[in-house]
Amino acid sequence: MAMDLLFERIRIVSPLDKLDSVGYLWVQHGSIVHCSTEPPANIPPTTCRIAADDWMAAPGFVDMHVHLREPGQTHKETIATGSAAAANGGFTDIVCMPNTEPPIDTPTVIEYIQRRATGLVAVHVCAAISVGRHGEVLTPMEHLHEAGAVMFSDDGSCVRSAELMRRAFEYAAPFDALLSQHCEEHSMTDRFDINEGAIAMRLGLRGYPSVAEDIIIARDILLAEYCGNRRYHVSHMSTRGAVRLVRLAKSWGLRVSAEVTPHHFTLTEDAADGFNTNAKMNPPLRCRHDVEAILEGLADGTIDAIATDHAPHAPSEKAQLFAQAPNGIIGLETAVGLALTELYHKRKFPLTRIVELMSVAPRRILQLPQPRIAVGEPAVLTIVALEQEWTVEPERFRSKSRNTPFGGWLLQGKPRFAINRGQVWECEL
Ligand SMILES: [Zn+2]
Repeated sequence: MAMDLLFERIRIVSPLDKLDSVGYLWVQHGSIVHCSTEPPANIPPTTCRIAADDWMAAPGFVDMHVHLREPGQTHKETIATGSAAAANGGFTDIVCMPNTEPPIDTPTVIEYIQRRATGLVAVHVCAAISVGRHGEVLTPMEHLHEAGAVMFSDDGSCVRSAELMRRAFEYAAPFDALLSQHCEEHSMTDRFDINEGAIAMRLGLRGYPSVAEDIIIARDILLAEYCGNRRYHVSHMSTRGAVRLVRLAKSWGLRVSAEVTPHHFTLTEDAADGFNTNAKMNPPLRCRHDVEAILEGLADGTIDAIATDHAPHAPSEKAQLFAQAPNGIIGLETAVGLALTELYHKRKFPLTRIVELMSVAPRRILQLPQPRIAVGEPAVLTIVALEQEWTVEPERFRSKSRNTPFGGWLLQGKPRFAINRGQVWECEL
């Protein structure tokens, strides 16, 4: 892709630069060389001029919850295919989760991932809290932090022991690490299929009660406060109770943050009706009142970030009986479309709020440098066509997997370019 692009009449939205205006944005060899409401003078014929009316340029989007499956389960996804899916979905940065095989619980595994993640998309690493994610012994968190881990979680599982979680908070205090939790009180969710509710009852499936998520969030908020106001992040929240608890913790002045997936603000448990394994995930899809509470939390700032929980599985795995099918759906290539359709178009969220949820807040939570949209800065950009309608065709995805409940959906708002590290990716969806 040409490395000399001039986006003409593009809406530039960058909250940290106090920018929300239509103008001309010129990217040459990885740097921003012009950013103004006025067009540049003397545009060479080699510059690729793009009519970008109704498009938006924003600081590169970050997905802070991605399962890349490598090492260990490369039939589902690899660092290369997952990174390509991220760029194709408009992301410049992702955080990969530690439930690989082996898990990310040693500096060696972090180095393995870093050596393979050399493309356009920056891959940041979330390391495990406990060795093997078994919930018994803490990992060498300080060494993992020094090796580059930006966050810690046993994601896929919850740290069951309050005592171990307390020790993790205390151990991480000197380097002020961010601890994140997959919030699930496992004693209440044994072999669950979907949310505990009407659909589970009718289909004869095992239910996961929403309170099993809330109990852990409440416990961890209390621990984070008790251990001296530690940094704590709630992964993929799905319940009304979770929103209430995070809101309360923030009102206490605690350093608590939270993310939600596009599927949890778009779908309810009804999507699993008919034994649809592409609506089976952990945490499960919940009820209408949960979705409404999440949308409120997204609007009022209780929820900080949108993250996909991109969880690839092979078609043969998802084709099993509902109870046997693994949890999780892919999300990297539908997230921008769903966020713009559901939040910007349907619910009239300001674009600055969308950019905060998908770019500014994840970097703030992870303490990553914030790219700016200004002349002389490196170009770290997500470019989307705000009004463009498109139909989700999973066959076009760059991900190795196809497990999405959104195939055939008509969305409004489509990623067009991801630009980072001197490289340009033109999205093909
Ligand atoms: Zn999880």
